[in-house]
Amino acid sequence: MSVRPKKHLGQHFLKDLSIAQRIAGLLSGHGGYPNVLEIGPGMGVLTQYLLPDGRFTTHVIEIDAESVVYLNDHFPMLRGRIIEGDFLRKNLATLFEGPVAVIGNFPYNISSQIFFKVLEHRQQVPEVVCMLQKEVAQRIASPPGNKDYGILSVLLQAFYDIKYEFTVDAGVFQPPPKVQSGVISLRRNGVEKLDCDEKKFFQVVKQGFNNRRKTLRNALKPLGLPEAMQTHPLLDKRAEQLGVKEFVELTQCIHGL
Ligand code: SAH
Repeated sequence: MSVRPKKHLGQHFLKDLSIAQRIAGLLSGHGGYPNVLEIGPGMGVLTQYLLPDGRFTTHVIEIDAESVVYLNDHFPMLRGRIIEGDFLRKNLATLFEGPVAVIGNFPYNISSQIFFKVLEHRQQVPEVVCMLQKEVAQRIASPPGNKDYGILSVLLQAFYDIKYEFTVDAGVFQPPPKVQSGVISLRRNGVEKLDCDEKKFFQVVKQGFNNRRKTLRNALKPLGLPEAMQTHPLLDKRAEQLGVKEFVELTQCIHGL
């Protein structure tokens, strides 16, 4: 018996085993980690290629009770390492001691929230490999100056080197999603701390993109720009034109170091 796909949980089960194997193979071990957490294993199509990898111990988190029953039946070697629940409500720091890589064919409806969570725990997550909606994957990996470039692109690129790996057609899923999918990998860069207040940096990026068509002078007005900064050349630009470094510079100018 297989799991009945539930739309509200974003369940689209990958049928193509060679793609599953390829995604699992993207874990490079970057940064070193004893544990891997797969988000949303479903029927374990990806899990089966993670389990034999001797470099790490595989754990999974799955919100769907029916999938959890399936996994317990089909993957006895995974017992004790199946966390039943909502990834968004878990605290990685209490689940794992030390570094843990994250992998998954993400539920597309919550992929952005998953990434905000990863960002919160970035010191603990040296690597992420995932499949998500193609547009979101492209956006995250996009360089500045591109209309796809957005909040998550800047925030993630501040702490991760990101690579768009490959595109996956809807036809290899059951049921097929309405959109194409993309696989990306993220590896923690060497940045331990930004050269500015990180909370403020997040604020400046979010505020800047809230009005992405406006110049930053207008978009950032609500943050209260210091008088001395009004002629700063970066303020003539729009958020989508700025890379991480420029956002750091803006944050320093607005809030001090
Ligand atoms: N990895 C499987 C399933 C992908 S579908 C495959 O490739 O075939 C996405 C999976 O994420 C589903 O199994 C769904 O139940 C699970 N899921 C959805 N929301 C979740 C959440 N908040 N936390 C953990 N798992 C979730």
